[in-house]
Amino acid sequence: INITDKEDVKDKKPLLTHETIHIAVKRDPKIQVARLKLPILGEEQRIMELINENEFLIVAGETGSGKTTQIPQFLYEAGYAEKQMIAVTEPRRVATVAMSARVGHELGLTSKEVSYLMRFEGNVTKETKIKFMTDGVLLKEIQTDFLLSKYSVVIIDEAHERSVYTDILLGLLSRIVPLRRKRGTPLRLIIMSATLRVEDFTENTRLFKDPPPMIKIDSRQFPVTVHFNKNTYDDYLKEAYKKAVKIHTRLPEGGILIFVTGQQEVNYLVRKLKASFPYRKDVDYSKLITKKAVDGVDAALDSEPDDIESDDDEVEKEMKRARKARKKAKKKAKELPKINLDDYDMPEDDGQADLVGRDDDSEGHLSDSDIEENVLAPEIKSCRQPLWVLPLFSMLSSSKQARVFAAPPVGARLCVVSTDVAETSLTIPAIKYVVDSGKKKMKVYDHTTGASAWRVVWTSQASAEQRAGRAGRTGPGHAYRLYSTAVFQHDCPSHHPPDLCRRPVDDLLLQMKCMGIDKVVNFPFPTAPDRMQLRLAEKRLEVLGILEKARNSTRRKDDEEVLKVTPLGKAVSAFPLLPRYGKMLALSHQQNLLPYSIALVAALTVPEVMSGKPECWPATGNTLLLGDPGVLLRAVGAAEFAHVKGEEELFCAKYGLREKGVKEIRKIRKQLTNEINLSVSGANVSVDPEMKPPDENQARLLRQLLLSGLGDQVARKIGLNEVKEGEDKRKFKYAYHCGELDEPVHLHSDSILRKTIPEWVVYQELYETGAEGRRKMVMRNVAAIEAEWLPVYVPHLCNLEPLSDPEPRYDDKTGRVKGHYRGTFGKAGWELPS
Ligand code: ADP
Ligand code: MG
Repeated sequence: INITDKEDVKDKKPLLTHETIHIAVKRDPKIQVARLKLPILGEEQRIMELINENEFLIVAGETGSGKTTQIPQFLYEAGYAEKQMIAVTEPRRVATVAMSARVGHELGLTSKEVSYLMRFEGNVTKETKIKFMTDGVLLKEIQTDFLLSKYSVVIIDEAHERSVYTDILLGLLSRIVPLRRKRGTPLRLIIMSATLRVEDFTENTRLFKDPPPMIKIDSRQFPVTVHFNKNTYDDYLKEAYKKAVKIHTRLPEGGILIFVTGQQEVNYLVRKLKASFPYRKDVDYSKLITKKAVDGVDAALDSEPDDIESDDDEVEKEMKRARKARKKAKKKAKELPKINLDDYDMPEDDGQADLVGRDDDSEGHLSDSDIEENVLAPEIKSCRQPLWVLPLFSMLSSSKQARVFAAPPVGARLCVVSTDVAETSLTIPAIKYVVDSGKKKMKVYDHTTGASAWRVVWTSQASAEQRAGRAGRTGPGHAYRLYSTAVFQHDCPSHHPPDLCRRPVDDLLLQMKCMGIDKVVNFPFPTAPDRMQLRLAEKRLEVLGILEKARNSTRRKDDEEVLKVTPLGKAVSAFPLLPRYGKMLALSHQQNLLPYSIALVAALTVPEVMSGKPECWPATGNTLLLGDPGVLLRAVGAAEFAHVKGEEELFCAKYGLREKGVKEIRKIRKQLTNEINLSVSGANVSVDPEMKPPDENQARLLRQLLLSGLGDQVARKIGLNEVKEGEDKRKFKYAYHCGELDEPVHLHSDSILRKTIPEWVVYQELYETGAEGRRKMVMRNVAAIEAEWLPVYVPHLCNLEPLSDPEPRYDDKTGRVKGHYRGTFGKAGWELPS
């Protein structure tokens, strides 16, 4: 199938109109009432007519209008799930779980029928009718079933997020849908999006020959007044805290939603706010005279004297009013029960142990002492209404996530501290105040090195509007931006570019090649990634032996060589991992190393499991042999053992391991083990909780495996004699050259290899640390290798010539030249031992 050729899939047959069958649904009356309030319900008929008669439909609607929860139900009721399934893809795992549960609940069905599937987790059964999945999962399914014959409809949700997989899915589906029509088994595609840049889809001639119909859901959005700060302070957490306190102590009832950048910040603010306005189960808060009752003025809503750029007299008046109200409240507060701040109730552990997560920066910049306890002491004392503070971020367990949908206890005010998850994916009811730090965490890639770093950046203007909109769902609201209008206009970009244009594309390149898409450059991406990036990724995969030049490819007119997937590449693509890790598994099977390599790869794919307590993990013989990955492997093994004994939590705390990370590793290990047993003939691996440390020979083989997967990430020690005159030699103690960068790269301060400082190493990742002006490049997870291995494991980067003298010898079995080479490695031309 030449899917990049539009003409090839020209529609021949007319579209079969879907014959509606009415499937009876028994809904809880309460749910029915709530549904009827959603603006999308009024559009059901129009939406269904458009779906029945078209194969493409775009649904654009404000977040919270009911797209995700309702449209799958419309389809279900119209019989779309009778013979085939309804697929819904989500870019975020949070939404995948939450939304499948919600839709199942609303339909009165179980998780057997409305199910979800994501990487390493799911509850799909044979009876599944509506299948929520992450976009990556559907993409994998296309590899084995290109026409997606299991499905009658595919809904691509949150298309505006422009996640990588969503973008590829859109490109593929724009070609699959006409193919299905050709076969007389139509597939419908519904693209759902917030009202952001919808023209990227509607006016995209790469995707659609004719613009597909679009339906816009007008939601009842109440006016939201946006307030900018006069000044922009660096410490947005402190500002967010102050603002939340002000809102809580001065403004009428209504939930508060605070946007910060990551899990660590969320947990920090949650703790801080809980401590300031504790909720106690043993107090009857219904008797509490709230602020609103005290002064009874809605006008207080606008009493933000130090931030609103408004008339001075007005401000003066408001301040007087506020002061008076506070005095009154203070008096009332004296009559309230005394609360001891030390024994306030934290309803549940808020996950302080796992301060880092996938969407987080480990190099946090906070400590509790950063915010002075006494900043707002008077207000805190004057108003004892508790805050019901809840965290929300993508790595939070689903049960804890679900708490944001429930009403807070009587008398308490809801306050959700969230990452950008709450921007469009999840709608929290009854939010009246939004506090927007204006920041988000973005993974920034260095395209030449592949090094990545989490950076806190300004959100786009579009995101700021989305965030503000969250305050106007149930009534007029207020959005407080903790930065100035100048920042908004000059520092916030109107949009951030789609992910696909910002990251290395290795894994998706391989997946696309496996699907038979040879010329990825011509693929109908909604927004095309940089050609240069695609080339570089191709190059990397060629170096790893995953792609190769097609042997007898006839050169095309444009004289570009087509790279095809090698047999190794095929094996590698079966693993749900970046190609380099897939390769390690594929090769380790031959060496009987699977139990180790699985554990190792699982550990390497979970970020920051060891939170920097190197003293807990003293080097022993073989650990030292295997370098940092050896320490990791040992930690994982020991944690597994502790888990079996039921002592995992304690163990993790004691040895500085991130418990959630350890759990994730366990999940991945199990999953990979199962997958390998199923797909690799002869493999019979089990997860051994008592995995012995690898012996010397195994450790050596494991290092070779690491090299086979990380062969493009080799570094060589900078000799002290190479240090230029006048430079401080001490700075070069742990400095290496890597192939791609001119500047030196360093061993991580926790690296066990600082003890041995080997000549040649491979590293897992390169990243930048240090404050502005003192930035330096650091290698993470480093292992020593031997230069002799390079021609074997990274032949593509070696320049070898046989020595003429003595005579080259040939291996009788393979006919290859054996030994007696002279050569260099990499661009830098490092000399290899002959
Ligand atoms: P959209 O996809 O258009 O953004 P949704 O379908 O996600 O909208 O949400 C529709 C409504 O359903 C929102 O008001 C939201 O608060 C509510 N909702 C979603 N999930 C839950 C849940 N688990 N519990 C209660 N209400 C929910
Ligand atoms: Mg939605």
